Amino acid sequence: MSIETLTAAVRNIPDFPIKGIQFKDITTLFQSPMHLKELSDILYERYKNKGITKVVGIESRGFFMGPELAIRLNAGFVPIRKPGKLPYKVIEEKYTKEYGEDTIQIHEDAISGNDIVLIHDDLLATGGTMAAAYKLVKKMQAKKIYINFLIELEALNGRTLFPEDVEVSTILKYEI
Ligand code: AMP
Repeated sequence: MSIETLTAAVRNIPDFPIKGIQFKDITTLFQSPMHLKELSDILYERYKNKGITKVVGIESRGFFMGPELAIRLNAGFVPIRKPGKLPYKVIEEKYTKEYGEDTIQIHEDAISGNDIVLIHDDLLATGGTMAAAYKLVKKMQAKKIYINFLIELEALNGRTLFPEDVEVSTILKYEI
């Protein structure tokens, strides 16, 4: 299956949740078993030889593919969540996103210095969410960090927020 086929399966919703946002609805992509399997295979092929020990998924759309990829990579899965959701001691970061401000948290003992971490989310817009997630995982002394998104909105230049030596990989690319 071609990347063009997967790209065309994402539904664009103009002005959701607020005016000016071109919302990328991935539910139409996930509805199809063939599309879902193809996405899973692309992710697995990309990361199978990197020694990933933990996949970190960002709430909430990073929870769709994150755990499935972790199982295939024989890695653990760690959630990054919105405030008040994680029951144990957390560390947190505040950030600005394409529409509004937010805070994310991770359990303080979820990552160790031996971990090679893949942080995964559905979509790279301004990059604010992932930059905060990257800071959280970096604070936890992970040995190496990879970053992945299913979708990149290239015109927003979100990837410039990450250091040059961090591999940022995306599968489907749109202008906005
Ligand atoms: P950002 O921090 O600006 O990179 O925003 C990324 C987060 O916001 C992701 O977790 C996305 O789920 C969500 N998001 C931002 N913009 C869009 C968009 N145009 N379509 C769908 N989700 C979006």
